[in-house]
Parts: sequence; structure tokens; C-alpha cells
Amino acid sequence: MTDSPTPASPVVDVLCVGAGFSGLYAAYQAREHGWTFAGFEAAADVGGTWFLNTYPGARCDVESVYYSYSFSEELQKEWTWSERFAPQEEILRYINHVADRFDLRRYFRFGTKVVAANWLPAEKLWEVTLDSGATRRGRYLLAASGGLSTPKDVDVPGLENFAGLTVSTSRWNVSLDDLAGKRVAVIGTGSSGVQCIPLIAEVAEHLTVFQRTANYVFPARNRPLPPEVVDDIKSRYPEIRQECRYSPGGIPDRPVTDRAFDVSDEERRRRYEAAYERSGFLGVGAEFADLLFDLDANQTAADFFRGKIHEIVHDDRTATLLEPHFPLGAKRSCFGTGYYETFNRPNVSLVSLREEPITTMTADSIVTEAGSYEVDAVVLAIGFDAFTGPLFGLNVTAPGHGRLQDAWRDGVRTYLGLLTAGFPNFFMVAGPQSPALASNVVLTIEQAVDWIAGLITHARAEGHEVIETTTEGQDDWVDITEWTVNQTLYATTDSWYRGSNVAGKPSTFMGYVGGVGRYRRICEEIARRGYPGVALDSSAVAKGIGRIDTEVDG
Ligand code: NAP
Repeated sequence: MTDSPTPASPVVDVLCVGAGFSGLYAAYQAREHGWTFAGFEAAADVGGTWFLNTYPGARCDVESVYYSYSFSEELQKEWTWSERFAPQEEILRYINHVADRFDLRRYFRFGTKVVAANWLPAEKLWEVTLDSGATRRGRYLLAASGGLSTPKDVDVPGLENFAGLTVSTSRWNVSLDDLAGKRVAVIGTGSSGVQCIPLIAEVAEHLTVFQRTANYVFPARNRPLPPEVVDDIKSRYPEIRQECRYSPGGIPDRPVTDRAFDVSDEERRRRYEAAYERSGFLGVGAEFADLLFDLDANQTAADFFRGKIHEIVHDDRTATLLEPHFPLGAKRSCFGTGYYETFNRPNVSLVSLREEPITTMTADSIVTEAGSYEVDAVVLAIGFDAFTGPLFGLNVTAPGHGRLQDAWRDGVRTYLGLLTAGFPNFFMVAGPQSPALASNVVLTIEQAVDWIAGLITHARAEGHEVIETTTEGQDDWVDITEWTVNQTLYATTDSWYRGSNVAGKPSTFMGYVGGVGRYRRICEEIARRGYPGVALDSSAVAKGIGRIDTEVDG
């Protein structure tokens, strides 16, 4: 069956995949511009990552008053966040509120997966194929499919032998009660594992945490938001948002200029203590200007942090196993509530997979090189096939270039993280090589959608139908992202940031880490210059991006 161009399913201006923060804002902007819009969402409702990641303890690490849309003053005035870091249910409620308030749900078909997207050069249209087999055509294709929406393939040896309950944090479909009184294993200690481990420990008969790489887990210091704080922020929202837009991380900055060795050991320690109390992304890892650039400086912060673990965890061997051994901030830090304290509970034990890798599983146990652990339930918190997983799942294809996964066989290549050469009229919201990875992503999403809308408006005003990046423009952006990350310690550590968490994935750093403010200024300058590096109906004002200020913010 197909519903391709008939009066019932006309060609639309914008085809969009995903109804999370990105897709909803894209629908809103399309309507503002008078463009027709057809959105498809595999899940049953709006919310994206916040619809799917419902595991116990799931909450955002970016403060709720910033991790929210800024496009409507009325919206930000009327919505009141209850906690410093909003729990998943509250964020999902907010997204539903936005969908209803702006009447956006009507633009999406839910429970509908896009399984292929083909560029039709003769018609200058995209045609998406849905899981029903139906097709739909549109001028522009927008991937609003999220960076962390495709779970990593399960690569735990022998899991297929296990007969007990298996659940993944990224597709949580049980309740905490289902784990009550059971012997539970959690595999994975990234942000998801760290959030659910303390809560599972409270109900399980015994919890065994299987840790491969110890992470930095700062105390989240979540708390209710007092009404006077909310009122103050609401009264200053426009100026706060503006500050966020030009900040390094998309949250109000706390600029520091001095370096770790500019101060005495005593002063440094005092500063780290205060930063540890403050916590958040501008905590210990941001206390001195050189922490993300200089390994020796970073070592002072890492040493301070490792000391904290030993202050909290009673058993010395467990504390030592929990110590992270990579530069602080080089991969995503975690924020937990009672995380290290959980290892003082009599019903919790830690297994280091560095010491004893898992060799297989049986019907009721996890077998490592050193022994066997009987369990009734396994919780997988093993992460995502970040950025490329969701994009490759769309099977985006353009004649002459094949599928996106063919074009990116040796690594991701984009222009500003928004376009990619050979795939005309295809746009990615908060895609790889954008600041999404290291920012308040809601702000990054708004900026991306606004910039894409600006480019489409410009092309249409000039009478052009086809927008694509030149290979030179794309090469320039890839060089800029690589140059930028190579200034920092991000480049030194394996994680989903580099694609190294997925076997066989080419190693490309997945983000632009020069700061959201600098990125925004780059995007603004490119627009002002008439979009160098972008070809409209095959003609470009300049093939490459040209000279641009690319220093790293913050
Ligand atoms: P993650 O950070 O990639 O962590 C996955 C964990 O599983 C790591 O500890 C990893 O160890 C381990 N692991 C993976 N495969 C394994 C295997 N086969 N055997 C044993 N251990 C294995 O994934 P995540 O925790 O889902 O978080 C991903 C990102 O989502 C975060 O960095 C964050 O950006 C976002 N997130 C945010 C929040 C929040 O805002 N609070 C919450 C959840 C997620 P290795 O490190 O050794 O690979």
C-alpha cells in the first residue's frame, strides 16, 4: 500500500522523524513559517528520550530551569519546575504540555517508524517509507531522531542463556517492584546505571554492580526549587536565556581565568571543596580554566575526587575499584544521589570487569574469569549507539552516494553538524559534530532548528529548491571540529563521545566542543556571509567556509 502523492497525502514541505524536543520545535517553526509538515514517531506519543528512558531515578543533569524551551515567554512564565533537576516524569509532562499548548500533536503520526528515506533527484523530493509500507513525499527531510535514542546492541557474552528477568534502562518496561526481593545485577555504570543503582539497592535482596570503567559520579545535590528562586528566574528569563545562548555549555556560565597551578595547594583544595558542594557541570571540573586542556592540572582535580570516594566508601578495596582513571571531564561525568554511599550497604557488592571480565552467563548466573554470581534479574545500563545509530536506522539514501552509512563508512562528516554532502535537503537537528554532545541540548535544538529554518527561508526567497553542503564546506567543518577537540583532553579517552563504545564503529569525535556560544556566532556569521559552503541549486557563494574564529570557549 502507498499513500504517496494523492490529494489525501499531498507532498509536504517538511518531513520530520521524531517527536521529542527537536521534532516538536521543528513542527512549531514550520507552522510559523507557513510550511506544511508531516512528522513520524516510532513511539506511541511525544517525548523522545524522555518517553523511553523511564528507569528508576531517571532525571536530567542539566538544571530544569535551563533544560526547557526558550522560544515562548508565555510558556516559560506559566510552567513551574519543582526540583533543581527534574525527574523524567516531570520532563515528559512538560513536553506533553508543550505539545498540547501549541497544538503540535496533530502534525505527527505516532507508532510509525520511518524505515527508509530516498532522495528523488528528478522530482527534487524526499520519499520516506514507513513501517506499514506506505510512503510519503516532501521537499525537506529533517532527522529529529535524537542522539541517544538507539540502544547499543547487547554485547554481554552469554546473555541469551539467562532465564531470569532482563531489562534495559533505555527501554524500561518493568517496575521497581519487579526487582523487589530479588538478586539483581546491574551491568554498566554510566549516567543511567548511576541513577538507578541506589534505588534498585533499596528493594533488591542483593545487588551486584558489574563495573567495567569507573566513572566520576558527583553528588547531584538535587533539591526542591523554592518559589522565590523560581519567581526570580521567571522575572529574568529573557536575559538568562540570552546569556545561555552565548555561554560555553548552554547554561549560565561561571567564568574562570586562573589555572590550577596559579594557586597554592591549600587554596586549590579549598576551591575544589566549594565546587564539590556546588556540583553541576560548573563544579570541580570547571573550577580552573585549564582543567580540560592540561593533564597535570586535570590530575589535581581527579586526585581530589578520588579522595572523596575514599571518604565516603568504607571498604578500602571497593573504594579503590570505584576510582576513575581517565581525565576528569574527558567523557561525560555522572551525577548521582547516594551513589557511592550505596556501596556501604550490606546487600550491595561491586565486581570489577577489568579484573574479572564476564565470560558467559547460565540460566541463573553471571560467570566471570574469577567466579560465578547467581542472579534473578539483569539490568542492562550499557548505553547507546550514539548519533549514527538513529541516523543509519533511517536508511537515508541518495543516488550516487548510497546510504548515509556508506558515505560515513570511515567516519562522520558534516557541515556544522546540520547537513552532509551528497544528501540534498537533508538536515540533522542536534546531529553529530554539533554542540549537542556537550551542551544543554534543548538550547542547541532550538538554535539548530532556527538556523535550518533561516537557510530554507533564504533559499526559497532566492527561488532555489535544492540545498546541499559542498564537500569543501563539509571538509572545513570536519577540520574545525577535529582541531577544536584536539586542543582538549576529550580526545584522550574512549567513550560514546568517540564512538568507541560500539564495536566496529569508526572513531570520530561526535561533537563540536568549542562552546555553544562560539558555535552560534559561527552559524550567525555563515548566514550573514550568504552561507559559504552551501550550494543552492548547485551554486555556492563560496565552496568552503573560509576564515572563521574557532577558538574554544570556556
Ligand atoms: P554510557 O555512558 O555509555 O554507559 C554505559 C556503561 O555500560 C559504561 O559503564 C560501559 O562501560 C558499560 N558497558 C557497556 N557495554 C558493556 C559490556 N558489554 N559489559 C560491561 N559493561 C558495559 O551509557 P548511559 O549510562 O546510558 O549514558 C549515555 C549518555 O546518556 C550519558 O553520557 C548522558 O549524556 C545521557 N544520559 C543522561 C542522563 C542524565 O542527564 N541524567 C541520564 C542517563 C543518560 P565502559 O565505559 O567500559 O564502556
